[in-house]
Amino acid sequence: MRSGAWPPAPEALPVAVVDNHCHLEFPAGEPELTVEQRLAAAAAVGVDRIVQVGCELDSARWTADAVGRYPAMLGAVALHPNEAPLHASGEHESGIPYDDALAEIASLARVDRIRAVGETGLDFFRTGEEGRAAQVRSFRDHIALAKELDLPLQIHDRDAHAEVLEVLERDGAPERTVFHCYSGDAGMARLCVQRGYYLSFAGTVTFKNAEGLRAALAVTPLDRVLVETDAPFLTPHPHRGAPNAPYLVPLTVRTVAAVLDVDLEVACEAVSVTSENLYGPW
Ligand SMILES: [Zn+2]
Repeated sequence: MRSGAWPPAPEALPVAVVDNHCHLEFPAGEPELTVEQRLAAAAAVGVDRIVQVGCELDSARWTADAVGRYPAMLGAVALHPNEAPLHASGEHESGIPYDDALAEIASLARVDRIRAVGETGLDFFRTGEEGRAAQVRSFRDHIALAKELDLPLQIHDRDAHAEVLEVLERDGAPERTVFHCYSGDAGMARLCVQRGYYLSFAGTVTFKNAEGLRAALAVTPLDRVLVETDAPFLTPHPHRGAPNAPYLVPLTVRTVAAVLDVDLEVACEAVSVTSENLYGPW
């Protein structure tokens, strides 16, 4: 739950774009807005399509159901790298063992309009040494699932850049691989581009102290750039700390256009086309 008042709506975009990573199952903000209200607020400023990410069992079930109800929503499902170790060690509150949890994700990933596997990857920030083997195993299982179903993979990489890149290289990355909330430096961005990956920039790229992230964006070709909110988290500048929702994507797109020195319209068009190429038509 992310509380606090909602930031005002930003100026609308000239061409509609996609928020390719958000979590609308989480309640957020005061007043709490329904999914319909959040989708409408987004569409009103030119964010007319989203990818909803359900990355624990309850959220994945919610997502598989919701994509059938909202035409603006496609979905992604996975066991988050901080969830998988809990299933593996028997500490998950559901009591569901890892193999059963993964099997359910694999079946939800086959639901119509679920168009990505994610978010999966490695998180050395929130999970300690004791959970690493389970994280790596889960990451590899999700890579295999994405390849089996020919779906894009959305990667969560927190403080684990080298290890994430290594696992992808060793197992062979799915044809469409997206670094959600890209957080590496410019050198890593060049390597990702070279390997054919996509970089999804969140509100973090707008933060005042994010020079390194903007340097990474600056070396990324526009046709490899995606934008996301990761709502209700990571609210863009100047509303850092407030609740986040897809209607705030325009703040991030404007930063993308400024850093890459292209017209806003050109940036929007590119993000929209790349998103549809990756996830298919809405
Ligand atoms: Zn996320």
